[in-house]
Amino acid sequence: MDPRPHTGHTGSALKAHNRRAVLRTLLRYGPVSRVQIAEHTGLSSTTVTNLVAALLAQGVVAEADLTALPARERGVGRPRTALRLVPGARRVIGVHIGVGQVRVAVCDLLGCPLHTRVLEHAPEQPADQVLDAIVALVEDAIAQDGAGRAALLGVGVGASGRVDQASGVNILAPNLGWRDVPLRDRLAERLRLPVCVDNNVRGMALAEALFGAGQGVGVLAFVYARVGVGAGFVVDGRVYRGGAGAGEIGHVTLLADGGEPCRCGSTGCLETLVSEAAFARRAAMLAARDPQGALARHLAAADRPPMQRIFDAAREGDPITLDLLNERARYMGLGLANLVNTLSPELIILGGLFAEGADVLFGAVRETLRRHAFAGLGERVRLIPPTFGDEAGIVGAAALALDAFFYEVNEGTL
Ligand SMILES: [Zn+2]
Repeated sequence: MDPRPHTGHTGSALKAHNRRAVLRTLLRYGPVSRVQIAEHTGLSSTTVTNLVAALLAQGVVAEADLTALPARERGVGRPRTALRLVPGARRVIGVHIGVGQVRVAVCDLLGCPLHTRVLEHAPEQPADQVLDAIVALVEDAIAQDGAGRAALLGVGVGASGRVDQASGVNILAPNLGWRDVPLRDRLAERLRLPVCVDNNVRGMALAEALFGAGQGVGVLAFVYARVGVGAGFVVDGRVYRGGAGAGEIGHVTLLADGGEPCRCGSTGCLETLVSEAAFARRAAMLAARDPQGALARHLAAADRPPMQRIFDAAREGDPITLDLLNERARYMGLGLANLVNTLSPELIILGGLFAEGADVLFGAVRETLRRHAFAGLGERVRLIPPTFGDEAGIVGAAALALDAFFYEVNEGTL
């Protein structure tokens, strides 16, 4: 009898389990050699060889042509017969539910959107109507993609607000007026596909870890500020969810006294200072004090979204607007310093309105973060805008679907 622990296990469930372990390694570390797969998974070289042979035959995995790469990308001593996932061999569906906008896309195995559908909806529209529209968009995107339902591994949904990932229920989305919406069960029933649901910023964090600037990073945080302010954390390639949903950085108290009331019931939260509405309120107040000033002039130009008008005034060098942005950027910097002192991420990705105005906001955020983080922790952390820009939400949703499949949360088959 072979004494090695991974031989002799021939049950189909175990085989599927081992196959997913191989796929996970390819997703996170690819291209990799068979030897490296065996090291990462703990499987025997015979098992790896057999599983890889089956995946090669299915077209899900291919021999990577490393000789075509420049030497520096090949890596020192890296074996030439490496393996990689074939991105187009299978598909996932990403569904990003934002405030007032839904994006649906058929994506490949590397989270790249192939066919995207966008729907604008009134934020107060009932959940049932939005779900009906999502089902229609998904069916339409699948039809246009043409790869067929057999190629689909599952659906990932990144939703606004508090989401219980285990039950797939959107517990509370204050900016949509949704409460206890069973997103996963409703969509799975209608689409007849495995569905997983999580908070949309957690999806964005995962996408950065799998496909973006966070590859190979141990601890990363994604902070998104627009209508609300939320954060997602990825630790060693896995989403960190805490006990009941980590990431409510928007409700860190920055002003203990005299702060504005927050929708969470508290006052002086970070969100009351750096959300889009907070910028807009403050800008309107400053413009009213100086109706002939540059800020008032830019705000009166109705051809651009409000945040863009504020950024335009700052880019023109208007001192009042620059003061406003510096003040708000410092609040965000304080929030991030608190985050760094608690979690010590190596990388912070700051998205939403801060990424749109990175040229006029990031400097003060970074400076405040460094000044207030403990004993040089702020010097270590990198602060950057998102890799995927406008597509952060949809790539994030696709990443949730891929993660659920590769980690066996959904029951889909290859
Ligand atoms: Zn709050």
